[in-house]
Amino acid sequence: ESQLNPNYSFENFLEGDSNRLARSAGLAVATKPGGTSFNPLLIFGGVGLGKTHLAHAIGVDIKDKYPEKTVLYISAEKFTQQYIDAVKKNNRNDFIHFYQIIDVLIIDDVQFLSGKSGTQDVFFHIFNHLHQNGKQVILTSDKAPVDMQDIEQRLLSRFKWGLSAELQNPDFETRVSILKNKLYRDGVEMPEDIIEYVAKNIKSNVRELEGAIISLIAQSSFNKKEITIDLARTIVEKFVKNTKREVSIDYIQKIVSDYFLMDVDTLQSKTRKRHIVQARQLAMFFAKKLTKASLASIGSQIGKRDHATVLHACKTVDNLSSTDKQFRKYVDDITKKLSV
Ligand code: ADP
Ligand code: MG
Repeated sequence: ESQLNPNYSFENFLEGDSNRLARSAGLAVATKPGGTSFNPLLIFGGVGLGKTHLAHAIGVDIKDKYPEKTVLYISAEKFTQQYIDAVKKNNRNDFIHFYQIIDVLIIDDVQFLSGKSGTQDVFFHIFNHLHQNGKQVILTSDKAPVDMQDIEQRLLSRFKWGLSAELQNPDFETRVSILKNKLYRDGVEMPEDIIEYVAKNIKSNVRELEGAIISLIAQSSFNKKEITIDLARTIVEKFVKNTKREVSIDYIQKIVSDYFLMDVDTLQSKTRKRHIVQARQLAMFFAKKLTKASLASIGSQIGKRDHATVLHACKTVDNLSSTDKQFRKYVDDITKKLSV
């Protein structure tokens, strides 16, 4: 009925710096659905970082604490499909009514609504009704509201009413604990150095991290091979190759600072010296161009700046590369270095 997956619980959602804010906000919402200022609660972040898991966890916890409440989890894609079907069958009002009587509505991957103005419109009305009646809305998205495209302004402004919490790439310790928890739940033992090897090499996607460990377990049990670092290396390499490698923001900062013969700390520093500011702006520009990270996330990783600073940096680089020959050369050189 509620479409919730009980395995996606808070207990199984390991805490780390990368998810602490989103996780605690989720717990707060689960304790008092509709009764906090986190309404809507919007969880955003890149693929495989736990948005769907956390959204379910909130729903599962609410169902546990308030069995009488109606909780519904649905992907934005399915919501859209249902709406299209309803319109075809002349059931638009029934569709709206169905959603307006829910206590906790969880919509996953709202970026899917971009460009779909009919669905956005109906969702706007449902959202307003739920919000006015103190019902809880939980949304997930691959981007922060400021970075969303082709979503109506009035809907975006609603998204910003509550709290937007980002899921970032988990740090090494968190990756290790996620792997250990998974192994523990599956009742599998694995040498510490293997776990650390996998955690060290798969950094930006928890789904891949789990996938690698699952293959490793399967390889060793089907082929009766001992789990060695060599086996781990082969499997990790496959994972890293099969997924289009996105350059990391750390890597971009390293390449840009090497190019200007400075260290990364200098690039991130608060100084206003022109050549350092330019190096920093170039790093931001390439991070925007080559990664899926949001402006806010790029800013926080490149010297703790805000999203407006990153946006300004991107515009500056665009302008300078068309007006300043020397600067154009910087852009071309770094592009080459980043593409090998
Ligand atoms: P997204 O929806 O952001 O693409 P998912 O929620 O599908 O990501 O998560 C991908 C996988 O990683 C799932 O199996 C999920 O259980 C796991 N996962 C993500 N974050 C965590 C975490 N903090 N602790 C434990 N497992 C996690
Ligand atoms: Mg998801």
